[in-house]
Amino acid sequence: MDISLKNIMACEGADFSEDQSVLFRFFGFIRGQVPPDPQAGTTASVSVRQLAEQLEGDHIHLNVIRVGFDALGDTALQDALIELDYSIYRIRNIYRPRGIGVGRTLHWFITSDDSDGLDTIGDTGDARDLWRSWSVDNNGIDAFVVRSISGFFGLSPVDGDCDKGGKSDGCLAGGVDRDDEGLSRTFAHEVGHFLGEEHNHGNNNCPNTNAGRRNLMAQTGCVPFLSDGTTRDTRNSVNLTSAQGNRMDDHECIRGGC
Ligand SMILES: [Zn+2]
Repeated sequence: MDISLKNIMACEGADFSEDQSVLFRFFGFIRGQVPPDPQAGTTASVSVRQLAEQLEGDHIHLNVIRVGFDALGDTALQDALIELDYSIYRIRNIYRPRGIGVGRTLHWFITSDDSDGLDTIGDTGDARDLWRSWSVDNNGIDAFVVRSISGFFGLSPVDGDCDKGGKSDGCLAGGVDRDDEGLSRTFAHEVGHFLGEEHNHGNNNCPNTNAGRRNLMAQTGCVPFLSDGTTRDTRNSVNLTSAQGNRMDDHECIRGGC
């Protein structure tokens, strides 16, 4: 396959008028770098060819909206931006086996003052207020990331609305008070809800099988522990069945190939 990055980015509606790196414009990494892999001895890597091939097939567009990061100190801010980039890196890898690409990824920012207190989320009502108060007027899924969330990890309508202005037109994709693996799994999980997936278990129980507990759509509290007995294996609990992938692929937010 001959890759024309320019043609693909034009098709994606990505802005290549400015002198910015491919890692920022094409992959959507806010730092313009591949994020570090938090697992010792593992190096994250990306492939232009692989992403280009993905964008020839079904894919989503994302708006990553960071909320109140201006209230973070310098070190915490750098850590938070790495967490965002790792979440973008991971959602591509998690969705790829099911033939769903993640294309144009744009970054947006709401200041702590403008957020009117919604940069730290205290309950699910706050989460809904956030995505109902703000939206990006384009065809991407609005994924809000806040400084912290109390009592839960993220929230999304099941079967979100890609036309903006409705009550279900965004999701709370997580908080940067988590570790990288935890936030990135929640990010992909919430977008999974947005694309129409329910949990793979009832409200008050977890899946019976190990495979079920390692599914992306199991709640974090169902994910098996690592050998330390206290940390959940969020890194390796991100599988999607073919049935789940097929349902997500039928969602109205899915865009056809470039
Ligand atoms: Zn959930």
